[in-house]
Formats: sequence, C-alpha cells, structure tokens
Amino acid sequence: MNFQPARGFVLAASPYAEADKIVQLYTLQWGRVRALVKGARKPKSRLSPALDLFNESGFSLHKGRSGDLYVLSQAKVLDTHPELKKDLPAITALQVLADILIQAIHDAEPHPDIYGLVRRTLAALEAKAGDPELILAAFTVKFLDLSGYPLELDACAECGTSLEKKKIHLIPHRGGALCGDCCASGPERLKVSPAGLEVLKKMRTLPMEKIHILKLKPPFLREIFLTMLEYLERTIEKRLKTVEYYLRISSKF
Ligand SMILES: [Zn+2]
Repeated sequence: MNFQPARGFVLAASPYAEADKIVQLYTLQWGRVRALVKGARKPKSRLSPALDLFNESGFSLHKGRSGDLYVLSQAKVLDTHPELKKDLPAITALQVLADILIQAIHDAEPHPDIYGLVRRTLAALEAKAGDPELILAAFTVKFLDLSGYPLELDACAECGTSLEKKKIHLIPHRGGALCGDCCASGPERLKVSPAGLEVLKKMRTLPMEKIHILKLKPPFLREIFLTMLEYLERTIEKRLKTVEYYLRISSKF
C-alpha cells in the first residue's frame, strides 16, 4: 500500500460498518479526501480524538483498494480548537463552514491558499474577532476568489460601467455584479445595495484577522451573509444543507 502523510482538518465523520467511520478531510497536500478509519467507534479507539469537527491533525493516509477512498491509520492531533466548540451556535457556524468546503471542493487537488484561508477563518472565529456571520461572509468572498469564481465588483460584467455607489445585482455564471441597466428582473439575481457593495469590496481586501473592523448592524450583516451563501450555492449548483439549521439556532431577531 502506498503511504502518504497529510496535514488536514476533519469536515465530517459518519458511521460505517460495525465499528468504523468514514471521514471527510480537507488536507494541505491532497485537497479534499475521504478516508476509512477502522475501529473508530470502539470505545478505546486511539484515533477518535482526532476525528472531531475541524480538529487539525497530521494523518497517515494509505491509498485504499477501492477508488478514491483512503485508509487513515494514524493521527497526531495538532489543534482541537476548544474555544470554537463551546456553544451550539458556534458549532453550527463551523458546520456551515464544513458544508461549504464539502459541497464546493470536489477534487483531491492541493490548494494551499484555500487551506491557509480555512486556518485564518478558524483563528478569527476562535478569537471572536467579529460576528461569525461576518467571518463566514468574508470567507465566502475570499473562497470564491481563490476557487476561480472571483466576484466582479468594480465594473458591470456586461457593459463595463463603474459600479461605484450603485445598486447592483449579483448573477452567478455572469461574472458577478451587473448594473441595474443590464439586469432586468429575473429569478437568478441577488440585489445588493450600494452599502452592501462597499462591504463586499472590503471583505475581499481586508485580511481575515482585520475583518472585525467592519461594524455592521445585525440585520444588514445577516442580509450580506445570506446573499453570499446563496450566491455560492448558485455558483456551485449545490444546496448548503446546514444553513437552515444555523438560522434556527442563532435566531437573533
Ligand atoms: Zn451594465
């Protein structure tokens, strides 16, 4: 068998067979991979501490016999992010982040920039450097940029006029923002106010550790957060199943 070391985060774990688990990992070296963990559900499994959501570990992965499923044989926990999992809203925000990575990343290709973004996002969440919705919205803007779907926010993707201080419409598959003139009504469009456009631009340029300087009123922040998640869903043509649950847990208004 072919042994491969990897550093990565756990995105999800589900029971498999009698005593095993299948985990979804996001790794620095191999991108997103699935791995079988034998005996992980036995009470004394030495691997189970490594399998919690967003724990970062050094893993030993072996290429399994069947297609893309690896076998995880060893794990050295590097960071369990205890501060991230203190309450249900915080855990639910993590589940949204994991959902985005699971739905949007398909390939077992390394992407160190995205890996670094995930680490900085977890650090910001852990430091409580801003509302989780602010951090996750900024993550989504940056993630789209790094994934090859950058939002065009400066000029209309259709006619090229400057979008500064304009009401815009975000249209997946048409390069991002369009001005009002180029966008008649349609089910696909997501409206963003001039103030929202400025926030999205700042989310793009501010480093994650500085995102907290954006002070937004909760209803406005929620609007931006949900707009970005919906834009992402339409871009990748997948539903994020965790969002509804998140909204129920963290109902603020
Ligand atoms: Zn236009």
